[in-house]
Amino acid sequence: MNSFSYNKAENTTDAVADLTGHTNSKYIAGGTNLIDLMKENVERPDHLTDISQLAPSTAEDTKDGGLRLSAFATNASTAYDQKVAGRYPLLSRAILAGASPQLRNMATNGGNLFQRTRCYYFYDIQTPCNKREPGTGCGAYDNYNRIHAILGTSEQCIATHPSDMCVALAALDARINVTGPDGERIVEFADFHRLPGDMPHLDNNLKPGELVTSIDLPPNSLTHFTYLKLRDRQSYAFALVSVAVGLELDGDIVKDVRLALGGVAHKPWRDKEAEELLKGKTATPQNFALVADKVLATAKGFGHNTFKITLAKRAIVRALTDALNNK
Ligand code: SF4
Repeated sequence: MNSFSYNKAENTTDAVADLTGHTNSKYIAGGTNLIDLMKENVERPDHLTDISQLAPSTAEDTKDGGLRLSAFATNASTAYDQKVAGRYPLLSRAILAGASPQLRNMATNGGNLFQRTRCYYFYDIQTPCNKREPGTGCGAYDNYNRIHAILGTSEQCIATHPSDMCVALAALDARINVTGPDGERIVEFADFHRLPGDMPHLDNNLKPGELVTSIDLPPNSLTHFTYLKLRDRQSYAFALVSVAVGLELDGDIVKDVRLALGGVAHKPWRDKEAEELLKGKTATPQNFALVADKVLATAKGFGHNTFKITLAKRAIVRALTDALNNK
């Protein structure tokens, strides 16, 4: 690990000033991903700005009837918060499907957004990786790639985003509040993470020095939920495919549907055109299968991960079916 300087921020203004006052600096909160990356020499910051002391209350009501989550609260405190668990059970379930209790006790909501891919080649500094070192090539594209993406890929990178929490946030149409050297702004969740394109070293659309301060959940009219996570090890593993579903039903007619996938792309995957196919239709496995086919219509496998296309279709139908029984 490289040597680095360190400062514990007193507040968000202090944090932004401290980070932008250094070159090659990083915010650190729980450190559950960043420390691993530093130990492996994948990340080599010269300075860390510690934001772990900035947590106010976990969740606060917003004027529009939604909920504001502190970016600095832990995943565990958020998942078990009564307002979150009662009003946004999809989010609680997704958080609790991720990592282990020990990690969820350390990891923060903001940090969850910044998790980096678990692509094996990204972590192995002996192998080429355009995300770690732009221009060196992609170690996964023509190699063992069982965990890699099938949607939204590029020739430069086929990595997946590893978060479970973010899949639920995508389905819930969350908004991300950030502050930075140019002031405060709001980023729609769909615009927060990036597809790899020809710049896979960029995971998100934040500007240099910007700090996520909170996550807003809009008022929730969805009545049925499920988070389905399929993985190699049930006890503790990242998703091969995960599906977050929220439904609003009128009898057996679908009034609204939110469907987000994890483990299949460089960012949580939503296909709003596919969701439209289900609105106003009867909630049947046949109609669910039409949606699944649409979501995966552009999917492309790379050999070892091609099974994910069929797996994702089946997971969508099962998740939508399971949601019918989850209020
Ligand atoms: Fe690197 Fe992306 Fe290729 Fe993995 S898939 S080796 S992260 S460029």
